[in-house]
Amino acid sequence: MSCVFCKIVARELSASFIYEDRELVVFKDLNPVRKTHLLIIPKVHRVDCSDYDLVADADFFQAYFSVVKYLASRLSGKRAFNLQSNNGAEAGQTVFHQHTHFLSDEMFIA
Ligand code: AMP
Ligand code: ZN
Repeated sequence: MSCVFCKIVARELSASFIYEDRELVVFKDLNPVRKTHLLIIPKVHRVDCSDYDLVADADFFQAYFSVVKYLASRLSGKRAFNLQSNNGAEAGQTVFHQHTHFLSDEMFIA
């Protein structure tokens, strides 16, 4: 298993974990570009957004939007944030385990 994010899910690599449930984990990005920069990733390896099955991964989608709401609720100000997912090397993807950048200029209060 050579995927960095699979190793984080398996706790073979350390990360600053924020949240975990059956479907996904959230941890701090190693190189933050905003005051809050978290990564939301599925526990099951999916390369990018095209790699999901709408039926088989339905539980993940539910968990995903649920955790987005939770993360937003922990922001310090007006709860303004951006979600970004880079899909494909040409779009800037460098880790090929699907992830969403949760970005905000507000502080995240764990
Ligand atoms: P992307 O360019 O969309 O594929 O984003 C990959 C992100 O993963 C970058 O923002 C990196 O800083 C971040 N990253 C890579 N390795 C790690 C790691 N071991 N722990 C936390 N974040 C990481
Ligand atoms: Zn992976």
